[in-house]
Amino acid sequence: MRYCKQICHRCGAEADSLRASWFNIHMLCQNCRAEEAAHPLFDHARRMEFAKTQTGNYRFEGIGLPEDLQRKYYAR
Ligand SMILES: [Zn+2]
Repeated sequence: MRYCKQICHRCGAEADSLRASWFNIHMLCQNCRAEEAAHPLFDHARRMEFAKTQTGNYRFEGIGLPEDLQRKYYAR
């Protein structure tokens, strides 16, 4: 696959690099990552992910996108 700009799974913006969401399996641009980091459930999501990997569950897909973010991106 040739190099090209990547597309954020959540907002659809082009990004030079994408990083995995803590809430689900989305790959996110910087803006969406920053939005997650500012979310009240962010610490909870990170603790849950850490707890799961400690028990050998490497297929954990996150706690799910919080409802307010779901509304923002999917309820159009
Ligand atoms: Zn994005």
